Amino acid sequence: MKEKIIFLDRDGTIIYDKEYVHKIEDLEFLPGAIEGLQKLSKDGYKFIIVTNQAGMARGYFSHAQASAFNDEMLLRLHRRGITILKTYMCLHHPKVSGDCACRKPNPGMVHQAIEDFKLDPSLCLFVGDKDCDIDLGAQFQARTFLVDNGQYEVKSTPSHRIKHLGEISEILEKEGPAGT
Ligand SMILES: [Mg+2]
Ligand SMILES: [Zn+2]
Repeated sequence: MKEKIIFLDRDGTIIYDKEYVHKIEDLEFLPGAIEGLQKLSKDGYKFIIVTNQAGMARGYFSHAQASAFNDEMLLRLHRRGITILKTYMCLHHPKVSGDCACRKPNPGMVHQAIEDFKLDPSLCLFVGDKDCDIDLGAQFQARTFLVDNGQYEVKSTPSHRIKHLGEISEILEKEGPAGT
């Protein structure tokens, strides 16, 4: 796929990161997230979510709850004109289910997306609020955006630090689009 693709983390990037909470009443979009994704959609970007959800391995929620929660978020995005190509979820935790290939910053979910969508990851953008999100994109030599919402300390060096998703479009206007 020769399209403009953005790999998005979910919690702390699109919605508030409330750690292991999977009740739909706790689903809340971060400031700037909807507007930012709408603007990027208009600019021709498509989105893939890659999210670590170790809460399932740890017994905080079931696979069904994790799916229902994510489906509800996708529905709310869709109603606002934002389409997510696919959500990849790592449900493992190293201390409970052992090491896996998919827990970010491991590249398993991106490798699956490469296979599913025939994309070149180095031409994609990677956006997230933790070291693992930035390290994920960096290993593919891609441009990375850190959503610095103050919740986690980040040691990695992203290409850009932003406060919310609404800032990405403007940066791309100056710097050039993804996919080229
Ligand atoms: Mg996050
Ligand atoms: Zn995993």
